[in-house]
Amino acid sequence: MSQQTPRIYLSPPHMSGKEQEYIRDAFASNWIAPLGPHVDAFETEMCQYLGCRKTLALSSGTAAIHLALRYLGAGPGDTVFCSSLTFIGSANPILYLGAEPVFVDSEPDSWNMSPEALQKAFDWAVAIGRLPKAVIVVDLYGQSARMDPLLAICNNYGVPVVEDAAEALGATYKGNNCGTMGKFGIFSFNGNKIITTSGGGMLVSDDAEAIEKAWFWATQARDPEPWYQHSEMGYNYRLSNIIAAIGRAQLQVLDERVATKRRVFDKYEQALNGLPGVGFISEPRDTRCNRWLTVITIDPDLTSVRPVEVIKALGSENIEARPVWKPMHLQPLFSGCEYFTHGSTSVCDGLFSSGLCLPSGSSMTEEQQDRVIECIIRFLGD
Ligand SMILES: *Cc1c(COP(=O)(O)O)cnc(C)c1O
Repeated sequence: MSQQTPRIYLSPPHMSGKEQEYIRDAFASNWIAPLGPHVDAFETEMCQYLGCRKTLALSSGTAAIHLALRYLGAGPGDTVFCSSLTFIGSANPILYLGAEPVFVDSEPDSWNMSPEALQKAFDWAVAIGRLPKAVIVVDLYGQSARMDPLLAICNNYGVPVVEDAAEALGATYKGNNCGTMGKFGIFSFNGNKIITTSGGGMLVSDDAEAIEKAWFWATQARDPEPWYQHSEMGYNYRLSNIIAAIGRAQLQVLDERVATKRRVFDKYEQALNGLPGVGFISEPRDTRCNRWLTVITIDPDLTSVRPVEVIKALGSENIEARPVWKPMHLQPLFSGCEYFTHGSTSVCDGLFSSGLCLPSGSSMTEEQQDRVIECIIRFLGD
């Protein structure tokens, strides 16, 4: 039966309709290249939206983190602190540079980096006489981290912050846009993000010189000579003009997408709050979440139903749901890396085992969301 009903995806791309027009323009002008007027305009429009000085359009969010960490001098023998509860794209660039990740736990309210755990990590760094080159603070699921206390700690040690806002475009902390509060911010336009170009990313900063250097590395580090001369290692990381055309049309509907995602969350909360063991990620005071994904927790002390079982049950109804990101300190890739917890136990281990991401597409219809809700109530309700 369920194979007949169309699949409900977690967060599918949601085009505005204007993308084709911009793409046609890119073709008409024959700017079929990793540069061109749409790239420039996309960068300018992101600057205007975010209120930051400089942006650099790139082929992915991961590339943006790579360039930021390289600029901050991370290399062999260095450490970089990073939120443990995140997607691997936050942490892989640390390895690209031969540096060593040190993972930091979440705090229960925002699910993001715990200031207490960060302080512990710095106490350790001071004790071994090696401060990190950077701290990667993630704004997970579109919820801002507690930036004020985190920045205060980092400033205290003179260590710059890279704000990984890949999932948090359109979210705010005390009126500031997520991604603009550190030395660098990064965004992703991967297929499942709140706005998408099919794939892409952005590096942002108020430091024009830093963005200039990142641009140089991202375009194969070509020296300013009439011939092709290279003194430094570079990458091919620029965004294509066609892809940027899609981004421009998507950016115009970002605020609408945030509003829709927030409505999706509210509907889930009204319908599911009160089911045994079900909890919702909170929206701490002074923050506005973009609700990229609605994530619930299922408390193992209050129900015997586990998130994996709910995922399976939804799957059999042709509905996609997923576990919360598996923390980096639990990844085989990072076994042996240092990890600092919020309290005496790890908060993000608990979020991983109890968390469940629900279909949250901005193009999901009321009827589709009703189907998801009915299925969860059927499974968890008794
Ligand atoms: C998606 C994502 C990235 C990586 O972005 P890509 O564009 O896929 O390289 C990094 N960090 C987080 C938290 C993400 O969700």
